[in-house]
Amino acid sequence: MDNYSLPKKFEEFNDARKNGFLKVKALKEQGKLVAGIFCTFTPLEILDAAGFVSVSLCGMSAETIPDAEVDLPKNLCPLIKSSYGFYVSDKCPYTYFADLIVGETTCDGKKKMYELMSKGKKTFILHLPQSEDSFEVDNWERELIRFKEYLESEFGVVITEEKLREAAKLRNVERTERKKLMEVQLSNPAPAAGLDLYKTFDGVGFLFDEQERIDKLKGLREEIEKTGDPSLNIGKKRILVTGCPIGGVLDKTVGAIERNGGNVVCYENCAGLKACLRLVDENSNNMLRAIAERYLSIGCAVMTPDTTRMKNLRELVKEFQVDGVINVTLHACTTYDVESKIVADLMKEIGMPYMSVECDYTAGDEGQLLTRIQAFIEMLK
Ligand code: SF4
Ligand code: SF4
Repeated sequence: MDNYSLPKKFEEFNDARKNGFLKVKALKEQGKLVAGIFCTFTPLEILDAAGFVSVSLCGMSAETIPDAEVDLPKNLCPLIKSSYGFYVSDKCPYTYFADLIVGETTCDGKKKMYELMSKGKKTFILHLPQSEDSFEVDNWERELIRFKEYLESEFGVVITEEKLREAAKLRNVERTERKKLMEVQLSNPAPAAGLDLYKTFDGVGFLFDEQERIDKLKGLREEIEKTGDPSLNIGKKRILVTGCPIGGVLDKTVGAIERNGGNVVCYENCAGLKACLRLVDENSNNMLRAIAERYLSIGCAVMTPDTTRMKNLRELVKEFQVDGVINVTLHACTTYDVESKIVADLMKEIGMPYMSVECDYTAGDEGQLLTRIQAFIEMLK
């Protein structure tokens, strides 16, 4: 890894997940409600307004996959197997402490996994529409009302319009700060390593106080703007990463890109810009409607057609002055795998060098991935 000048600040975020275990335990002892979540479609404002702390559940390690394969087919996305493995083996303290698991009907594997989880843990499954059409916004709004009413009756909380508005205002500030942090990479050469930024975006989710998340994101951005060293990225190829969530394959994708002449300047996928490009209309006179509209416009391959992702990609490659796009698909993720053809066609149309790779959580594909990534970056030179 290059010797960037901000290791201490970044380390704070790397440690956040680890330290989060103790924080969640303390919050539980104070009587706080905890929701375990898995997906960018989870309507966080509703959980905030209900007084829940939301935490992303573990699904980034191969360690628990053998436990999952006792119940699940082997030929399934590693993220699903890892998540289920943590649940079934009780190795994830966040799952253990969760009062509720919130799932969405995104891809087939995940929605069936929630069904299995609901046998052992209180689980609410939101029926997510598969397109952004206006009648689907109506359906999604109805689903969010069902969720709100469930939380109120099951946990004895009251979710008011004003609480939703307050939650939306804070989440909007956080999303704006996340976006601004990514935008430090607009400078050419960029001042930060993409690997460090990814770990920050991920780590922030394990700080459970909204104002603390906002302050840390802002503080890190200001420090990068002041002391980041763009000279470390001179001559490196500017890469945009898109596709599946990559927390479990970070080193063999982003790490390999950055050790071989690339610099990841933009993440379009979950944990990156996808989660913060659109804000909730905090002035709406119907906050659940505003939340429904915002969440249904997340560009994910489970939507069909996935026009928002294509629109975002088209804009981001220009804005971040990207030299090449790498699409990462997790093994057996049908939606992203099929959609990689649509992304390839878009990149061809706009004349952007593009490569799609498929990987899982094992070490078996590292060599082949490295060779392909090296060849792609070499081709960009
Ligand atoms: S890629 Fe889509 S389904 Fe997967 S976590 Fe992100 S938004 Fe959810
Ligand atoms: S990566 Fe694909 S298969 Fe895996 S959980 Fe996400 S959408 Fe489903």
